[in-house]
Amino acid sequence: MKVMKFGGTSVGSADSILSVKNIIEAAQEPVIVVVSALGGITDSLIATSKMAASGNAAYVDAYNEMVRRHVEMGNGIGLESGKQANLMAAVNQLLDELKNIFKGIYLIKDLSTKTSDTIVSYGERLSSIIVANLIEGAVWYDSRTFIKTEKKHSRHILDSDLTTQLVKATFNELPKVALVPGFISSDKNSGEITNLGRGGSDYTASIIAAALQAEVLEIWTDVDGFMTADPRVISSAYVINELSYVEAMELCNFGAKVVYPPTIYPACHNNIPILIKNTFNPDAPGTIIEQEIKEESKAIKGISSINDTSLITVTGLGMVGVIGVNYRIFKALAKNGISVFMVSQASSENSTSIGVRNQDAELACEVLNEEFSKEIEMGEISPVCAEKNLATIAIVGENMKKTPGIAGKLFGTLGRNGISVIACAQGASETNISFVVEEKYLRKSLNVIHDSFFLS
Ligand code: ADP
Ligand code: ASP
Ligand code: MG
Repeated sequence: MKVMKFGGTSVGSADSILSVKNIIEAAQEPVIVVVSALGGITDSLIATSKMAASGNAAYVDAYNEMVRRHVEMGNGIGLESGKQANLMAAVNQLLDELKNIFKGIYLIKDLSTKTSDTIVSYGERLSSIIVANLIEGAVWYDSRTFIKTEKKHSRHILDSDLTTQLVKATFNELPKVALVPGFISSDKNSGEITNLGRGGSDYTASIIAAALQAEVLEIWTDVDGFMTADPRVISSAYVINELSYVEAMELCNFGAKVVYPPTIYPACHNNIPILIKNTFNPDAPGTIIEQEIKEESKAIKGISSINDTSLITVTGLGMVGVIGVNYRIFKALAKNGISVFMVSQASSENSTSIGVRNQDAELACEVLNEEFSKEIEMGEISPVCAEKNLATIAIVGENMKKTPGIAGKLFGTLGRNGISVIACAQGASETNISFVVEEKYLRKSLNVIHDSFFLS
């Protein structure tokens, strides 16, 4: 069996949904199909709830627009009349529930996380019943009954063991086509609706593929495959035929939006190949992500970037040679659920810089200033503050370790173009060099590096 995931753009219009139907029906083996909300709907659900909570009556127009999209879709996919009436009854019931929730928020002017999580779940619940009705004989499953999360550091984290067990039990017998809403889940204790984070449908698909030992996990999207850089930024970016799990993981973690980062691990752990394909160009070979790369490849496979980066530096002569400073930094951040995606430490040990998202920067400074309050008072460590509005860029490739001169070429290229590097890090695994620049230099940095490594 295989798992196929179709993203928001793939189910964005009646036309594209019909391509999805053809692709699913061409599969020989049993398939589990995971779908995202119709393109743009999750954003609209979030924006509409904020409007309602702020007392803006125009939320009704935004809601009506979502109704229009779903009704148009339900009517535009060419179902025979009985089936269409059933589908529209189910769609309208969900939309009515949603209308009542928005009305409630508008009246009480309050939007809790729990309510917000309930609202965004409607996107995938609606899209999945539409696609389920379109595919002959497809059986719809509710992912909230088998994708289970638990609350840690005020985030919903997958309970992997429980979920694996429930997925196996749910799909003990497989229909030819099983249809599953991506992204949504429920709390293992309270049963409340939760989700796997923005872009989380990829993760839903990978979790299911791993639990059932699928032959392949196919991610169907709107580009021909995983590309050397974000094609919206670098027009000369091209498709990479093969990536190792490690390379894909690094590129995704550093912002390559084409796959949601947590997706790679379940597939990698179970050695399930991931195939990235284009719904709008199904004949293109796509990109295969697996353990071993078969073909000879360049030292650098891809470049990715995160643009809302802050750099927080803990510095002071009082840190030199003192054991446990880094332990305290990471413990304090972890306790507050702050994720760190880059670390750079000078060998003199008098400063450690960490890269976090802009949105986490204030809290990170607060907890570090508290953790080191004694040392700060004594003047051993400087007060911690964040340098905001930076961008982190990573160049990734497993062949880097066999190729001398990559760092030289990278920093030479940046230097010649007048771009100064604020911090950098390279892991000993030598599959990634990451560095921080001012955000205003991001586009230029990506362009000059892409030209230098891929086009010359
Ligand atoms: P979906 O709705 O199918 O989940 P996403 O919008 O989440 O699609 O991801 C696909 C998009 O990711 C592409 O349209 C492309 O703009 C963007 N992207 C960013 N980096 C890359 C990359 N390295 N390779 C391919 N696409 C990328
Ligand atoms: N619909 C959700 C989002 O937009 C999940 C997904 O598309 O994967 O984030
Ligand atoms: Mg996506």
